[in-house]
Amino acid sequence: MALLSTDYDDPFVKISAMIGGDEYLKVARSLLKTKDATDEEIASSTGLRINMVRKVLYDLFGKALITGIRVKDERKGWFVYRWRTRRDEVENFIRSQKKKISDRLQQRLDYESSSDFYHCGNEDCRKLPFQEALEEFFKCPSCGKVVNLKKNDKLKKSLQFKIGELRNDLNP
Ligand SMILES: [Zn+2]
Repeated sequence: MALLSTDYDDPFVKISAMIGGDEYLKVARSLLKTKDATDEEIASSTGLRINMVRKVLYDLFGKALITGIRVKDERKGWFVYRWRTRRDEVENFIRSQKKKISDRLQQRLDYESSSDFYHCGNEDCRKLPFQEALEEFFKCPSCGKVVNLKKNDKLKKSLQFKIGELRNDLNP
């Protein structure tokens, strides 16, 4: 499934496409084009099934990227939601995603810095922290091969670099 190019789109559309792909992209474009559209109007303008449109809308609503206003449809006599983008929230959303990623990378860096690691060289086997390698007499508990010290300086450097970049974005 080829993702349509979003190069010239609004940040709201871009972030929506990043969250969920083509369907999100279509719904987001439709929301920008028609303010306060209903589920049905969005479905007919995008050509997506109504269930898909609703799934996307509820997800975007859950992420605070759109709001829904409940209004009475005078013609049908029941209540419908009219949806509107919250483009002011896009920046917050991006920030909170960056914060999450940066925290996760920091945890990984802390782990990588907590010990020396040993590995058997077999891709399917995990790395052992020093203490565990010692307890296993420097033999891999999965495949039985001897484990050797595995330098992780490069990994730590690249984690530090990425964390630094994210923090600069967050606190310019
Ligand atoms: Zn192994």
